Amino acid sequence: MFKSRGPACQSCGMPLSKDPRGGGTNADGSRSSEYCSHCYHQGAFTEPGITVAEMTTLVEGKLRSMHFPGFLARRFAKEVPTLRRWKSQASRTGAQREQTSEAPTR
Ligand SMILES: [Zn+2]
Repeated sequence: MFKSRGPACQSCGMPLSKDPRGGGTNADGSRSSEYCSHCYHQGAFTEPGITVAEMTTLVEGKLRSMHFPGFLARRFAKEVPTLRRWKSQASRTGAQREQTSEAPTR
């Protein structure tokens, strides 16, 4: 399905082959082999403060806007936390914050 061979962006999961620019750019202007041009520009993330939960929502919304069926968009978005950018942040929890704010309603 959406999984294609070749490297995918380690921030949003988009295959770099689908990136019109072929990938983000490093600080020295060279091409990044890890991140796409939407996420990474001149050695910095375009949205440095985004949480993994926000990125997951973003990716799902983006796929839906590309006319992916909802269940496929969700399945693909679920892979986002496994990408390298987010793995190193596993201890910094945006997800936990959401869970605690849900608690008082029960
Ligand atoms: Zn990306």
